[in-house]
Parts: sequence; structure tokens; C-alpha cells
Amino acid sequence: MDRAEKIIDLLSRKYKINPEEFIVNKVRGRPLFDMIVGVMLSQNTSDKNAMKALENLRKEFGDPLDPCRIKDADHHRVEELIRPAGMYRQRAMNILSLARLFCDKDFVNRLEEKIKYSNPLEAREILMKLPGIGIKSADVILNQYFGKPVFAVDTHIRRISLRLGVVKTKSYRTISEWWMKNLPPEKYLLAHLLLITHGRRTCRARFPKCGECPIREYCDYYRSAEGR
Ligand code: SF4
Repeated sequence: MDRAEKIIDLLSRKYKINPEEFIVNKVRGRPLFDMIVGVMLSQNTSDKNAMKALENLRKEFGDPLDPCRIKDADHHRVEELIRPAGMYRQRAMNILSLARLFCDKDFVNRLEEKIKYSNPLEAREILMKLPGIGIKSADVILNQYFGKPVFAVDTHIRRISLRLGVVKTKSYRTISEWWMKNLPPEKYLLAHLLLITHGRRTCRARFPKCGECPIREYCDYYRSAEGR
């Protein structure tokens, strides 16, 4: 077993993934619009805050979310509902723009077909043309909704990858490619969730709990701290 697989194996022994902690589990099995809105709400905030905002939207616009009701909603009302997720002005604008697009069933069908038959890199570009969708959100949607073999990198995964020393740059693409190159595609999702869990519970941004870390023997940061 090489380094990446060993790391994921060790993390899987330590953590039991709690689906309740991840916004994507709140939108899985629902239409693409719900997935996109859920993922967008979780950008730069905790999944907990994103879930609150999503719940507010559902109470007002149905579950699954009805884009045709949202598109005619008052901008300020949408802002108010998604306020728990932060950056609510820009996000409300993006959600309303998305709702206008997704209210058209033909648009949704065409989009889904196009993504289904595109390779992961092309599919990523297609999604990134939608309002408010950056590279990380695109990859989460591709992996979780379309089952494409891509590896989404969030702030925890970026920090852990740098501390482990598997990459020397913060570049999203470099980090994503390292994990994709070193793990079989069927492990991408599990690895993504385990690394986030590890970042939240142990390898925190401040004061990482290295003493109780199951992957410290693979970690440059730990080795260099030991050598000091
Ligand atoms: S040893 Fe410390 S820095 Fe390295 S992965 Fe574990 S918690 Fe993070």
C-alpha cells in the first residue's frame, strides 16, 4: 500500500464519518438545483451554517427547492433566509440567477446531458460557468451528483496536504491531482470526507493535535516539529 492509501486506511480506522456533519448529505438524492445551492452555501463557511441557510430556503420554497418559486422571490427575503451562511448579498444574487436558469426544464436536461457525456475536465468547465460556482464547488458536484472521478479540495484538505508534505504548493489543481494520482477513483469520496473530518477534529488550523494523530509517521510537519 503506498502513502496515500495508507493515510486513508489509517484515517478510516480512527474516524467514523458522520453524514450529519456534511451538507452534501442533505442534498444527495435531490435534484441538481438543490445540490448546487447546498454546495454554494457551504463555500467559506461551516457546513452547519450552510445547513441552517438551506433549511430556511426549504421552509420557504419547498423541499426539494423549487427554482420557479425562488426566481420570483424578493431579493432581500432570500438574503435574510441565507444570512446564516454569510456573504448573503452575493449569494442571494447567485441563487436568484441560478433559479432563473433552472426554472427552465430544458436547460436542466441539456446541462445534465452535456455534463454526463463530458470528461471530468470539460464537465468542470461547464459547471464553472454557472453563477457562483468555483472549481471546488464544481468538483464536489461532479463527484457527488454525477459520480465523476474528481477529487475536491477544501481548506482542510489543502492544509493537511501541505503539512503532510505531499505537495509544496497551495495550488488547488496540484493538490487535487496528487490525491487522484495516488488513490483509486472509488476511494476519492471516502478520502475527501475522511480528510475533512481529520482537519476538523485533529489537524486543526491552530494547535493541531499531533500527539493523537494516526498519520503522524507520514507527516513532514510532525517530523520537523520533532526535530526542533
Ligand atoms: S501529525 Fe499533526 S500536522 Fe501532521 S497530519 Fe497529524 S495532526 Fe496534522
